[in-house]
Amino acid sequence: SPDYSSWPVRSVRSRELYDRARSVVPGGVVGQGRIYDPYPLYIDRADGAHVWDVDGNRYLDFHSAFGAVLLGHNHERIRTAMETCLRERGVTFAAAHPLEAELAERIVEMVPCAEMAVFSCTGSEATLHALRLARAVTGRQKVLKFEGNYHGWNEHLNWSVHFDAENEGGPAERPVPYAESAGVAQSARENVLVVQYNDTESLTRIVEEHRDELAAVIVEPMFFNAGVVLAEPGFLEQCRALCDAVGAILIFDEVITGFRVAPGGAQQALGVVPDLVTMGKAVANGMPISVLAGRRDLLENLSPTGPTFFSGTFYGHTLSVAAAVACTQFLSETPELYDQLDALGRRLRDGLREAAAEGDAQVSVESYGSVWSMHFGASSPRTYRDISKTAKTKNAGVQRDYQRWMLERGVYIHPHYMIRGYLTAAHNADHIDHVIESSRSFFAAHRS
Ligand code: PLP
Repeated sequence: SPDYSSWPVRSVRSRELYDRARSVVPGGVVGQGRIYDPYPLYIDRADGAHVWDVDGNRYLDFHSAFGAVLLGHNHERIRTAMETCLRERGVTFAAAHPLEAELAERIVEMVPCAEMAVFSCTGSEATLHALRLARAVTGRQKVLKFEGNYHGWNEHLNWSVHFDAENEGGPAERPVPYAESAGVAQSARENVLVVQYNDTESLTRIVEEHRDELAAVIVEPMFFNAGVVLAEPGFLEQCRALCDAVGAILIFDEVITGFRVAPGGAQQALGVVPDLVTMGKAVANGMPISVLAGRRDLLENLSPTGPTFFSGTFYGHTLSVAAAVACTQFLSETPELYDQLDALGRRLRDGLREAAAEGDAQVSVESYGSVWSMHFGASSPRTYRDISKTAKTKNAGVQRDYQRWMLERGVYIHPHYMIRGYLTAAHNADHIDHVIESSRSFFAAHRS
């Protein structure tokens, strides 16, 4: 039974809610990614850079809804767009409406590979539609993904993500697909190929071995599901070249990076252009909408112009599209936002590195723009296996201690198999300095 005394903050109401919720909701939460040890903190509201739990504790929020919040919670422009939509148009029609074309035009303008765009609700749907489209246009079945990259829960891509790669992943140069969930159709396995991130040599070999069967390569162009792990020079370029050589579709999964690292996402920042892109999260600053965009000749294979089924009751949901139009408009008008986020990210990274060095802490800190991560280990990982070696065993305790230390000091960070945080436009230098100073005291107190 949970150790109820161990939350560092007063959380009586959260505990009461947990006791109530778990008799009707498995584990009291609708998803395994919620902060949960020994029981969830139930969040009451959010505004700007802060969230408040149901006991009235206020935290600086670096979870930012898994990165979906980019402009800060309850941003005025988005709220106004949604209020206007609610008042003047309604919630949803499941019919074509004028805001859809407006949003698609904005995306085509902002994102390099986008000649057309369609909308679904979640990232998992967008990646599934992208893969199905790639299969439809190539007439092939296999998909190549990278170990640790997360593309959502769908059957075809929920392989080799958060597992114990050392013991369950097979040889490093030829990984074996690992089903991330009970109940995944085992028949999906035969069409999944897995390669380690940044392992250009194995990638080349395996693509060539399957050159006539490969429908798509799907990749996180910045591997943020492992913290901040960047593609090494030449890696994404090789993905592009191999897809061109064997006639496979290159899909960039920009569900996190889209709109967050640059107005046109990682493909704009890095200069490698995929055939298809999936985006979600930040496009509407937290409203549920995802985007599949890319080459016109591919997108026109979606129904109704092509034979590839595409439909969903809530696709193009009016309120979400209104939020996305307002958000993309704001991002286009405010290019300086990216420099501001970058400066804050560097301030945090440099401050954390200095505090760690001062406390002799074995941690590696990385950032890219508004995303930062901290691994308890001497060097920064370049593949998922680097993390898998230590994260689940050696580091689990210290990460949990760090999270609790930070909660006690009013900082809300989501630990995964690493510490990862997302900055928003609502964060400022004082907020960053508070994280640095709180971390400094943690490193000092845990000096080994
Ligand atoms: N792709 C990436 C890169 C993600 O990080 C996620 C979610 O974290 C998804 C896809 C799935 O998105 P969703 O949770 O909206 O289904």
